[in-house]
Amino acid sequence: YAAKDSNGLRLYDSELDTNSPERLALIADLRRAVERRELEVAYQPKVDPRTGQVVGAEALARWRHPERGPIPPDVFIPLAEHSGLVWPLTLHVLELALRRRADWARAGHDLHVAVNLSPNSLLDAALPELVARLLAETGNPAHALTLEITESTILADPAGSRATLDRLHALGVQLSIDDFGTGYSSLGRLRELPIHEVKIDKSFVQRMAVDHRDRAVVRSAVQLGHALDMRVVAEGVEDADTYAYLADEGCDVVQGYLLSRPLPPEEFSSWMNARSR
Ligand code: C2E
Ligand code: CA
Ligand code: CA
Ligand code: CA
Repeated sequence: YAAKDSNGLRLYDSELDTNSPERLALIADLRRAVERRELEVAYQPKVDPRTGQVVGAEALARWRHPERGPIPPDVFIPLAEHSGLVWPLTLHVLELALRRRADWARAGHDLHVAVNLSPNSLLDAALPELVARLLAETGNPAHALTLEITESTILADPAGSRATLDRLHALGVQLSIDDFGTGYSSLGRLRELPIHEVKIDKSFVQRMAVDHRDRAVVRSAVQLGHALDMRVVAEGVEDADTYAYLADEGCDVVQGYLLSRPLPPEEFSSWMNARSR
C-alpha cells in the first residue's frame, strides 16, 4: 500500500506488513468503525484566488481510533481498499458530505463539495446509481458534487473507469483528476475523458515559489488544463507568495493550509461565517 504522503507512515511502516497481527487488528477495528458509522469527515475550503471567494470544500475522511487516536487516511484508506471496506466507507463519506453541502446551501452558501474515490469504489458498477440516489435523497444538484479520482486509478483500468466516468458525467457530476502531474498521464488520454477539473499535486505547488522548475510545471499544467477547457485547482498552498504566483498564473481555485486546514463541520461553518462577514 502507498502511504507516502502521511506523517504517520513511519509509525505504521513496520507494524503494517501484510498480514501482521497488528495490521489484522487494525482492519478489524476499522471494520467495526465503518459498520458503526464512526468515521467522520473534515472539510477543507477551496478559494478563487482572484476574488478570495470560497467556492467549495474537499471532504476528507477522519478516523479516531479509540486507543491509538487519529489514524491518517493515507494509512486507513489503503487498509479499507485491501479488505473490502472501501465501498461502505465511500458511501458513508459521500452521504455525510452531501448532507453537509445541503446544510451549507440552506445557510446561503452555494458551495460545491468534493469527495475522493479510490480505485475499487470507482470500478464498482453500482457507483453511478448510488450517487444519483444520494443526490436525490439529500436534495443536491449533481453539479454541486465533484468526484476526485487519481490518474493511477484511471490507468489501472482505463476501460472500466471510462465506462463509470461516462455514466457519472451523464448524471451531471463534476469529475476531477487528483494529484495531477504524478501519474504520467498523456495529454491524449486526458483529452478523451469527460473531466471537468485537474488538481495540480501539492508536490509541485509547495516549491513553486522557490524553484523555477516547479513553477514551470505549474504554469504548463494551468495552460494544459485551460486548453482542454478544464478548471485548474492547486492544492497544498501554504504561503502568501505561492498564492500570489498561482493567481498570476491564472489558476482557478486554490486549497491549502494558508487558507485553512481541513476542519470539522462545525468549525468549517464558523470559518465560512467569519469570512463572509
Ligand atoms: P488528497 O486527496 O491529495 O488530499 C489532500 C491532502 O493534503 C489531505 O491530507 C490534506 O489534509 C492535505 N493538505 C491540504 N492542504 C495542505 C497543505 O497546505 N500542505 C500539506 N502539506 N498538506 C495539505 P489527508 O486528509 O491526510 O488525506 C490524505 C489522502 O487520503 C488524500 O489525499 C486522499 O488520497 C486520501 N483520502 C482522504 N479521505 C478520503 C476518502 O474519503 N476517500 C478516499 N478514497 N481517499 C481519501
Ligand atoms: Ca483529493
Ligand atoms: Ca491531491
Ligand atoms: Ca495525495
